[in-house]
Amino acid sequence: ALTIGIVGLPNVGKSTLFNALTRNNVLAANYPFATIEPNVGVVNLPDPRLQQLADVFHSERILPASVSFVDIAGIVRGASEGEGLGNQFLANIREADAIAQVVRGFTDGDVVHVDGEVNPRNDMETINAELMLADLQTLEKAIVRYEKEVKQKKADPSVLEAANAAKDALERGILLSGSNIDVTPIRELGLLTAKPYIYVFNVDEAILTDDSKKAELAELVAPAQAVFLDAKIESELIDLDPEDAQELLEATGQTESGLDQLARIGFATLGLQTYLTAGPKEARAWTIPQGARAPQAAGVIHTDFEKGFIKAEVISFEDLIATGSVAEARAKGKARLEGKDYIMRDGDVVEFRFAV
Ligand code: GDP
Repeated sequence: ALTIGIVGLPNVGKSTLFNALTRNNVLAANYPFATIEPNVGVVNLPDPRLQQLADVFHSERILPASVSFVDIAGIVRGASEGEGLGNQFLANIREADAIAQVVRGFTDGDVVHVDGEVNPRNDMETINAELMLADLQTLEKAIVRYEKEVKQKKADPSVLEAANAAKDALERGILLSGSNIDVTPIRELGLLTAKPYIYVFNVDEAILTDDSKKAELAELVAPAQAVFLDAKIESELIDLDPEDAQELLEATGQTESGLDQLARIGFATLGLQTYLTAGPKEARAWTIPQGARAPQAAGVIHTDFEKGFIKAEVISFEDLIATGSVAEARAKGKARLEGKDYIMRDGDVVEFRFAV
């Protein structure tokens, strides 16, 4: 499964957030025999449609999609020079499919800030500078190699061009994920700043309820997405029953928990989407890459479904709820038979036809 690596300076609330993520661990409940790595937290992708489907189909259980987060040891200045945990740290980030940077926005006299003051902009610059330096080192080595390979006609010139363009951008202080540089020719390099990026602002209640302050911070990181949460409140929410949790959320001016937000935005940032299936056994969300076609979507359930794919019977979630049953949706012409070129849409409720 694709994972999101959590990074950030020391004392910004990473452990507090990660602790909430792991105590919320859904793997244990849904897949009792799965091995859970201690540094992986798996959270459900919130999707209220599943309960509605379960009501229509009288499903025994609900299986939502999930998102995995990996806790990566704290970054230190000089990580790109291999200081302290540096190299291991960079190797761990390289394995993640996206990065979530936790940024401290809370003030607390009892919690020391490594730089002596709470300054989100500086913190982000510190982390990003380390990632950019690491990428520059990777690129400088690669460019030497690519120059040789292009001369010997062992590599396509587009590889060298992409590497040089990426290097130029980084030297101008631009993260590759926010640039318009196409890094696909040099994907093998696993450049850190080319990974999709989310910023998680760990803030006080005062900021949680301050829309203009949030807009200001969000603008600072655009086009990357920003999530605002209070890690301490998140760790309290985990222990509350749903009604009390709802009350605490409302009292702190939130409509959705920070973990739910993080799951939703993280899932989309990874380039993923879901489609739905339902029956008496389960109502379930399946994870596919955005833009996947019907056979590929079928393959997520079983490889035989992909190999023997014939058609997908698709009813949109809205049509299914409006008509109240598959039979009624069919009768009203709301069930479509789609072929192998069909591009899956969010909210498709699907039954595959296949031959074995
Ligand atoms: P890490 O070093 O980034 O993993 O940070 P920790 O999660 O260990 O948090 C450092 C300290 O800040 C701990 O004492 C936490 O209790 C505290 N802390 C974390 N999040 C918050 C928050 O949202 N508000 C306040 N006031 N303190 C927090």
